[in-house]
Amino acid sequence: MDKITPSHRSWNMSRISSKDTKPEMIVRKLLCESGIKGYRLHWKKVPGNPDICFPGRKIAIFIHGCFWHRHGNCKDATMPKSNTDFWVRKFSANMARDKLAKSELENSGWKVITIWECEIKNREILKNIIHKEMGHLIKNDEMMAAEPNPDYNKQSI
Ligand SMILES: [Zn+2]
Repeated sequence: MDKITPSHRSWNMSRISSKDTKPEMIVRKLLCESGIKGYRLHWKKVPGNPDICFPGRKIAIFIHGCFWHRHGNCKDATMPKSNTDFWVRKFSANMARDKLAKSELENSGWKVITIWECEIKNREILKNIIHKEMGHLIKNDEMMAAEPNPDYNKQSI
């Protein structure tokens, strides 16, 4: 059995973290609504400190900003016009780090799920990802079948 971390406790703990970004909250909220529990946040014991991970099930979720992590063919992955050398180096370091963490995790039997910020903005796309990748864990399928929520920008946590 996995240790279930009370979501309220992890919410409290995560509040003091600067990594407590809004896209991550939206993913966590959806996982919670789907009845998927037992995750840890920014777990330091595995490569890459995945944003959300399920140690017992060996599932790691990375939530990547399209700009910083260079989402392929994404309109949000723009290239700054000045200091281009700096940005190119910065981006390639980020991508190399992501790739390394992913391969280290996969080599030790983890399933790695990457969710991009632009996908989180569309609740339907996000739900499809969770459904596809973690469908076997979903306890509340009714929620997953619900209509898309157009209130992305209004969602308060
Ligand atoms: Zn994107």
